[in-house]
Amino acid sequence: MISFYPGPSQVYYDIPKYVKDAHAKGILSMNHRSTEFMDLYKETVTLLKAKLNIPDSYKIFFTSSSTECWEIIAQSIIDKDSLHIFNGAFGEKWFTYTQRLTPAAQPLPFDCESKLPIKKIPDSYSGVLCITQNETSNGTEVNAGMLQSIKRKYSKALIAVDATSSMGGIALNFKSADIWFASVQKCFGLPAGLAVLVCAPKAIQRMKSTNESGHYNSLSILNEMADKWQTSYTPNVLGIYLLMRTLKKRKSIEQTHQKIKSRSEGWQKFFRGSPHITFFIKNQTVTSLTVLTLTAKPELIKVIKHLAITKGILLGDGYGSLKQDTFRIANFPAIKDTEIRKLQQFLRSYL
Ligand SMILES: *Cc1c(COP(=O)(O)O)cnc(C)c1O
Repeated sequence: MISFYPGPSQVYYDIPKYVKDAHAKGILSMNHRSTEFMDLYKETVTLLKAKLNIPDSYKIFFTSSSTECWEIIAQSIIDKDSLHIFNGAFGEKWFTYTQRLTPAAQPLPFDCESKLPIKKIPDSYSGVLCITQNETSNGTEVNAGMLQSIKRKYSKALIAVDATSSMGGIALNFKSADIWFASVQKCFGLPAGLAVLVCAPKAIQRMKSTNESGHYNSLSILNEMADKWQTSYTPNVLGIYLLMRTLKKRKSIEQTHQKIKSRSEGWQKFFRGSPHITFFIKNQTVTSLTVLTLTAKPELIKVIKHLAITKGILLGDGYGSLKQDTFRIANFPAIKDTEIRKLQQFLRSYL
């Protein structure tokens, strides 16, 4: 089965081989206090920084999911308030999860065809600005220029970015925000159960002033352990190993970005002029490069998804309120050109 689901998504073809290697090398029962583990942690962080262009001064932590990262930010970073600027289900979920832990959280919803409403953010805002860079539910993105503008204008604020369905797929400018996170079952092409949390020195400072250490995953504790290349609990060692192996083989993120971008343009061309299947988002300046959300009549979507399965192709369902009216196609690096051609061949008769 070829999976075009935007998470959990298709994993890299080499994964079975790497899992075998991990077993042969004793990784599956590796002690997380051993020097072997510390070397693995360190090597993976070095590779992440090199392959994704993450500044050397930033710290990288391993957690189990993006949802956990939402909670870590709420418990350990947000000292008073947070402002959640979102246009879809994941950004809204981040807001509701945060509100349960820190009730001062504020929502700032915006239309999914519009640019992020930067003018609505108070000028001297000094809390945590929470932005979903790639909204997986509707296929929109906040582009690099917008993130740069926000960073420049709100120097007192801390900027946190959910890049779950874009990190590892597109070139992100890590300098344009203070906290970034992503779980690995999307653009990293790995099995679920691991996430990467990236913190700028400014975020570490804020964490220190918040001074929270009441949880096993308090950022202060993760930070203390990371200084020793360790974690505060037994981590997903296999996940970290697979991340290391796949990163080693990866091209530079600029090259990956170019591939994803040209594939995205290919998909735009493919659906152009179709009376039956169209992009859900019409404004191309806010359209995601990594998650394609298509709209069609609900009956047609049902037929397409069903027949695709019989051809060995899994399409992504619509998400949340868009479940009936859309379907999604992941444009993630682990998918091969031949697989895209196979999907296009299948879809051509429904255009
Ligand atoms: C998938 C996704 C999440 C949730 O990730 P988990 O690893 O399941 O916690 C959060 N945000 C975005 C944008 C996502 O696409």
